[in-house]
Order: sequence, then structure tokens, then C-alpha cells
Amino acid sequence: MNDYLFSNYARFDVAFVRGQGSYLYDTEQKAYLDFASGIAVSALGHQHPALSQALKAQVDQFLHCSNLYRIPQQEALAELLCQHSFADKVLFCNSGLEANEAALKLVRKYQHQRGTPEKQRFLAVGGAFHGRSLALIGASPEGKMIEGFTPLPDWFDLAPADDLDALEAAINPETAAIILEPLQGDGGGIHLFSAEYLQGVRALCEQYDILLVFDEIQCGNGRTGKLWCHEYSAVEPDIMTTAKGLGGGMPIGALLARAEIAEAMTAGSHGTTFGGNPLACSAGLAVMQELIKPDFLAEIRIRGEQLSTALQGLVAEYPHLCTEQLGIGLMQGLRCTAEITNIAVVSAGLKAGLLLVPAGRNVVRFLPPLTVSEGEITQAMTLLQTSLSELSQ
Ligand SMILES: *Cc1c(COP(=O)(O)O)cnc(C)c1O
Repeated sequence: MNDYLFSNYARFDVAFVRGQGSYLYDTEQKAYLDFASGIAVSALGHQHPALSQALKAQVDQFLHCSNLYRIPQQEALAELLCQHSFADKVLFCNSGLEANEAALKLVRKYQHQRGTPEKQRFLAVGGAFHGRSLALIGASPEGKMIEGFTPLPDWFDLAPADDLDALEAAINPETAAIILEPLQGDGGGIHLFSAEYLQGVRALCEQYDILLVFDEIQCGNGRTGKLWCHEYSAVEPDIMTTAKGLGGGMPIGALLARAEIAEAMTAGSHGTTFGGNPLACSAGLAVMQELIKPDFLAEIRIRGEQLSTALQGLVAEYPHLCTEQLGIGLMQGLRCTAEITNIAVVSAGLKAGLLLVPAGRNVVRFLPPLTVSEGEITQAMTLLQTSLSELSQ
């Protein structure tokens, strides 16, 4: 498609030139209802006034100064994140992967510092996706993610998802932390862990004196109708990572932790040039200020109910194409049958003017902006129904 780019993406042959609210417009001015949100990134949709104004104001001041100095926008965003989570301290970076890398480093540093350096391994569960560094692909060692990249550092143990006995059996004297997404996105294909399971995981962490890391890079920042997905289970992690929706389109990642753990990272132990820069943090502040407005999250839960009811209706109508509605809030999925691929559904949606995202295990993902309206969900379901009825012929 393009002679000058690496071929590491199987791109759809479309390019967008403008966005407004829940819509994107391509080079031919065709409108698309954006139920991809750049993979759960455009939390406030496109050209949200508060986000655009915050960015423009910062651009008119200055862009970058480095963590050699205090950055008030960073301090304000950290304070807001701590006020609205279990955490006491925040470390900023530029992406989800970087946040998870920092989490692994923090786990190691903390275990060293408290005199248990033998606790150095990480335990992940089946269907995990935590990013694509050499360290983190060890959490999802299957298929194209690892083909040709071996040998991987042998730092991860794996247990099947939803099986507490198997998880306990995988814990060993070297286990430092369990890492998991409360609602799996890419790998697990929109798989929500039950409150009982997460409570069981927390209990194992207490019993074996290991840390619990929640990866809320995709399911955090209001995506599920709670600010953090783990709030559904009332289980608190020791460490949490987030990114994607936090910047509403600006690259930003964050590592959150309780003070006692965060203190393990001393001056010089970790850092990144761009992490927590004024522009990204201005975006994060604008997004967070919207998310914590009264009723914002309640509205997401109502829209989520609307979406899940509609998807369940499609499962009933097209049982030969889709078998199951998955997920919660505005992070949902539709599992396709063996008769059809998720890519075929996503392609048909694109043709009809609806942007969707494929996920693992033959699932189609629905990730509209958190500001999506009732009418837009209705319209998206009409477009999806048209696509499914064409595919079923
Ligand atoms: C997207 C994602 C990542 C990786 O984030 P990047 O910003 O792409 O590096 C890690 N974990 C989860 C759960 C994700 O959804």
C-alpha cells in the first residue's frame, strides 16, 4: 500500500482527514461513526472543546522543558489521579507499554529494597496483553507476537485465566507479582474477570506476600462506566498502569502505586525524556476533569446497557454469525462463529461507515467515544445489522 513504511500493520485502505464528536471523515468526505476511538484512545471523541482548548492554550505557552524541572500540569494531573484512585503516587511516561515496563521495574525494585530480591518473577494469566517489548511479550507468548523474536527473557510464569487453583499452583518462591487486566482487551477478546475471581487473586497475593498489578491501560479512564474497572470488584491493586484514553489522543501513560511501594523508585532509578510533558499532561487534565463531572460515568453505564442489549439482540438474530455479547460499559465485544472472521465483520462495517476493532479469539470490539449519544449507538447498531445481514447472504 505504501512503499516507504514497514509492513507491520495490515491496514485498511482508508485515510481520515477530520473528526468531529463521534465521527471521522475520510479523504472523500465520507462519514464514519467511530466505534474504534483509535483503540480506546479518543475518550472524549474528536475536537472536544475542553480538550482542544487545553491543548491550544498549552501550545501557546510552550511544549517541553524536561523532568529536570517541576511541571505544574504534571503535578496537577498526578494529584487528580490520586484523589480518584487507591494510589498515593504517580509516575508518567508516554505509552501503555512504558507504563507496564515501569511497573515491572517497580516490582523488582520494591522486592529488592525490602530484602526479598529472590522474588523476581511475574505471573500473568491466559489471554493477557501487556504490550510488545521483549520483556512484556513474555506475558502472551503465542503466535505472531513472539515468532522470530525468541529467545525471550524468562521472566514470566503463566496460568490459565479464571482458574484460582491453577494460579496458586503457578506461584513459586520467586514470584514477585501477579499482573492482569480486570477486563482483557486485545488478547483475551473482551474478557471480564468476575469480582469473585479478582477477590481470590487478591487473597492469594496476601497469602503468598506478592504484589498485585492491574493493567488498566485500555479498561481504565472511565471506559467501563467506573473510573477504574477494578472498582466493580472492590479489589484494590498495589500498582496500576493506564494510558490510552487518559490523554484523549495525546500519548501519555501513567504508573500509579501506594506510597510505600512507589518510594522504592529513588532519584536516577527510572525516567524518560518525554514522560509527563506539559502538553500531554494538559490533555490528561482536561480528560480527567470531564470524567469526574457528576453523572459522566453514570451516563456511560446507561449507554453500555443500551449497547449490550442491542448486541444481545443481534446474537439472537444472527446465531450463525455471532454467539456472544461480551464486556461492559463502552468496552464491549461480539464473538463471531467459526463461519465468519472478525475481520470480515470489521471490513463490512467500514464499508457501511462504522469503525470497529478486531480483538483476539474472533471477537469484534466496540469502543465508542465515552461521549457517544443514544442516537449514535442506535445508528451504529443499524449499520452493524446491515453489515451482518449482507454477510449472512
Ligand atoms: C494497548 C495496551 C497496552 C500497550 O499500550 P501501548 O500504548 O500500545 O504501548 C498494554 N496493555 C493493555 C491492556 C493494552 O490495551
